[in-house]
Amino acid sequence: INGCFAVYGREKGEAEGVILVLQDVTEQKELEEMRKEFVANVSHELRTPLTTVKSYTETLLDGALEEKELAVSFLQVINHEADRMTALVQDLLELSRLDNKQVKFNIRTVNLAQLVAESVQQHQIHALKKHQTMKFHSNVEEIFVSVDPDRIHQVLSNVISNAIKYSPEEARIDVYISQDEEWVRVGVKDTGIGIPQKDLTRIFERFYRVDKARSREMGGTGLGLAIAKEIMEHHKGRIWAKSEQGKGTTIILEFCK
Ligand code: ADP
Repeated sequence: INGCFAVYGREKGEAEGVILVLQDVTEQKELEEMRKEFVANVSHELRTPLTTVKSYTETLLDGALEEKELAVSFLQVINHEADRMTALVQDLLELSRLDNKQVKFNIRTVNLAQLVAESVQQHQIHALKKHQTMKFHSNVEEIFVSVDPDRIHQVLSNVISNAIKYSPEEARIDVYISQDEEWVRVGVKDTGIGIPQKDLTRIFERFYRVDKARSREMGGTGLGLAIAKEIMEHHKGRIWAKSEQGKGTTIILEFCK
């Protein structure tokens, strides 16, 4: 705690009262720690692909260039790492724009049932590549909410592609939409690897991954759900997860009516 006080008196030495100002700096300190951790994470995430690019380039220059097949495979690795860095920088820029309130939200009345159906449709091709079955379920054709459709499409894309990414071949993915008096809910339920209970709230933190190596291998930046959470909060909505390890995960998006 930071504090300062002043002593008042009519004449020297004659104290009439004391004003004590106390300031709780816990939150300030926590924010500072989070900022430091974020910068360390960004540096690490960028250094990892750069180290790979550098070592593969050096090996090519040292003579591997002469062997065509080897050279091609090295260049593919370099290309892949460059793509990862691009994705990371794009996500970082997006987060920074959201943090600085530079993103303009075009809120309109939208048929969310249709928006979800379209997102599911767009991802069918990726599910099919893994022989997964993805189905959309809705009791009604129209559920209207006030949202920015592009931004919500972005959230749905992230959650649906995670369901595909973190589920095995031939898995089943179900996407639901339902409503009660207060909320409209969209659930994306997969039958994948699941998330341990202790990580359920942390997956929405920047760069938090249950399995770093696995996420990177799949081309993840570790920022998708953090961006999704920011977008949902801008809509006064919520995003949360329930899961059973080894059985599957459901990500729930809630929109206030
Ligand atoms: P990433 O780019 O790593 O996928 P996200 O922010 O989208 O980053 O997700 C954060 C982490 O949450 C992932 O690394 C993964 O560990 C976990 N996760 C997200 N969605 C799922 C899911 N459907 N099943 C299992 N784990 C998931």
